[in-house]
Amino acid sequence: MPVADIAPPSNHVGRLILTPRDAELCPDRDRLVYTLSEAGFIADHIPDRECAYRVGPAFFALLAFVGCAVAIASDPQTGNPFCHVVVPPAAAHPLWYQGRNTRAPRCPGCRARLSDWTLRVEQFEHSASTPGSDRQDSAVVCPICGECRQIWSWDWKQQGGFARLLIQVDEIFPGEAVPTDAFLDLLARESGCAWRYFYVQA
Ligand SMILES: [Zn+2]
Repeated sequence: MPVADIAPPSNHVGRLILTPRDAELCPDRDRLVYTLSEAGFIADHIPDRECAYRVGPAFFALLAFVGCAVAIASDPQTGNPFCHVVVPPAAAHPLWYQGRNTRAPRCPGCRARLSDWTLRVEQFEHSASTPGSDRQDSAVVCPICGECRQIWSWDWKQQGGFARLLIQVDEIFPGEAVPTDAFLDLLARESGCAWRYFYVQA
């Protein structure tokens, strides 16, 4: 869409996204929300915002903040960007999350960069939205070592990723807040699968 060419530069600070490490896994969303609430990561639901929650009393303990991030606002009343958590409805298949900070992924086997990654992602998104399309459309052959793996199994570092179920935290500058081991352990224990995290800047 040509709109992107004339759009003003984005001032979106960034978003922290936590997802199951295996993009095809989809733990129960209601149980996840319950777990986040019990752990104090989220508080009450924010009115008029779908699936959005205020940060809970343990939010600043379950994320490790780097530098002077004390100024993070968590009050939605001001109209300014504020820190809150969204747990969107689960998707039937892995969806792609990227930002202006997303870069070419590396092959987990030989570390080669996938230079045509934007085209690969486009192909994946096209096939994912086409009913009855073959799952193989999400497979990418490494141009260097020839290994074939799903596009979500490439090493996207902390700059993008795929997920059916996710926890997103706005607004977090990439690297500003890192999930603690205790938080990742809690998610793994309660959902039955390992989690990863990354950042996107709209
Ligand atoms: Zn390779």
